[in-house]
Amino acid sequence: MSELVIETQNLTRRYGDVVAVDSLNLRIRAGEVFGILGPNGSGKTTTILMLLGLTEPTEGWARVLGFDPMRQPLEVKSRVGYLPDQVGFYDELTARENLAYIAKLNGLSRPVAQRRISDALERMGLAEVADRRVGTFSRGMRQRLGVAEILLKHPQVIILDEPTLGLDPEAAREFLQIIRTFREEKITVLLASHLLHQVQAVCDRVGLFHQGRMVLEGTVAELARQVLGGAYRVHIRALGPDLTQALQKISGAVRAQKLDSDLYKLEAQEDIRAEVARVAVQAGAQVLALGLEEPSLDEIYQRYFQGVITTV
Ligand code: ADP
Ligand code: MG
Repeated sequence: MSELVIETQNLTRRYGDVVAVDSLNLRIRAGEVFGILGPNGSGKTTTILMLLGLTEPTEGWARVLGFDPMRQPLEVKSRVGYLPDQVGFYDELTARENLAYIAKLNGLSRPVAQRRISDALERMGLAEVADRRVGTFSRGMRQRLGVAEILLKHPQVIILDEPTLGLDPEAAREFLQIIRTFREEKITVLLASHLLHQVQAVCDRVGLFHQGRMVLEGTVAELARQVLGGAYRVHIRALGPDLTQALQKISGAVRAQKLDSDLYKLEAQEDIRAEVARVAVQAGAQVLALGLEEPSLDEIYQRYFQGVITTV
């Protein structure tokens, strides 16, 4: 088998006139963290349900670890951990009891279950609250318990649907940091989210979805280059003469803009901060601040659609 862990070809799902997922060709490699990102209703959950064999494609096919999810659902289910957007637990039971129940359902022997449960709780930062009733848990803790549950089966692939929804920014950041650690164990992660800015840092590659179609795919830097022209943004705050022209001439600068009386923004192919500072000083400006900004997926997404609409 190839390195492709998830592969789809023309994967399509229609509901009446609605094309929930439209001719999707997805190729996710072993060990990647791949984000399927897009607004509500763009087809993310439907894609996931087809990968899990829970929804039947109207056309096309999917392979997960080489298995056909519709024909070999158990093969897929035993190797793939899935965190749905709503995770259900028994509120009256403790975290440990909930996991023990799941372990039993999965047929794990008691000693194996106990070890894996302890490991998973530790891993997800829940060891100290393991014996508290889940009814007392915050949404962030529940999400982490959901991942702990997934870890019990030592999955090769983890699929997370809107994992940071409803988490405060700090809890979301912590949660995504844990996702990042799965890469070290070569677990392939697919996560779906409409919160582009939250997940962009954690994904190796992303696919941007719009009305069932994956309209852009690549690393954030690749998409930034493709859609925004430059993957790097340099900001400079400088007093003195107008620098727009001089900045625009720097080699590697794609676009220079004046945002404010003393603030400029450059899109660039590379980190050209040193050159920007040099040019500003040479022009007789007094440099107050110089910064580098990562491109944001929200902006890439918005700009992409502006481009599509204006060129149609
Ligand atoms: P996302 O997860 O990106 O928010 P979904 O995959 O849930 O998007 O939905 C994609 C589109 O398919 C939406 O227009 C949604 O209304 C429609 N859809 C999803 N599931 C069903 C269903 N079971 N029956 C009818 N329409 C559905
Ligand atoms: Mg969804």
